[in-house]
Amino acid sequence: MYNDVFIALGSNLGSREEYLSKALAMLADADGVSISAVSGIYETAPVGMPMEAGVPAVEQGAFLNMACRLEVTLSPFSLLDLLQDIENRLGRKRIVRWGPRTIDLDILLYGNLTIQTETLTIPHPRMFERAFVLTPLRDVYPQAEIEGRGFAERIARCADKDDIKRYTGGVIAPI
Ligand code: ATP
Ligand code: CA
Ligand code: CA
Repeated sequence: MYNDVFIALGSNLGSREEYLSKALAMLADADGVSISAVSGIYETAPVGMPMEAGVPAVEQGAFLNMACRLEVTLSPFSLLDLLQDIENRLGRKRIVRWGPRTIDLDILLYGNLTIQTETLTIPHPRMFERAFVLTPLRDVYPQAEIEGRGFAERIARCADKDDIKRYTGGVIAPI
């Protein structure tokens, strides 16, 4: 028995395509996880950046964002441990919340599960307000809608909807 899981990947530091492709390779290698679909790559403006006196506290570059669909036999918490282990192995440093990062891996949806704990909330609490999450998710989500509302309608309501471009500058190695 496996669960269909959707995760978001993002990178805005260093060799961004390489971090995305290494994270996918590590996911493909992990026990209890197989990748069933991978989205296109999107280049997106940073959102939620910490501000100080009206200016960004940290300069940060554009993100590359993707989503993928996984078939998972791990529990949600074991999956979170795995994603954090991959982030650490790829040199993620937690310096500033929402600051620059080599790789960010978030669980968006885990089957039909809803969880709300201190360390894990599913569905991801901010996913529906982020075009940079919903746009790649739409590529790998088999139904046209989620919780009764179409992706197009949801994306149209996102403040960052005009900051998402399809990225063709790099190639993610096939898995
Ligand atoms: P955001 O959550 O707004 O996208 P972020 O990804 O930058 O911000 P992180 O610093 O990567 O935030 O993660 C902070 C904590 O969020 C993690 O330590 C983890 O325990 C928690 N968390 C809660 N729900 C989730 C989820 N669905 N997926 C990944 N992490 C989650
Ligand atoms: Ca995130
Ligand atoms: Ca995260």
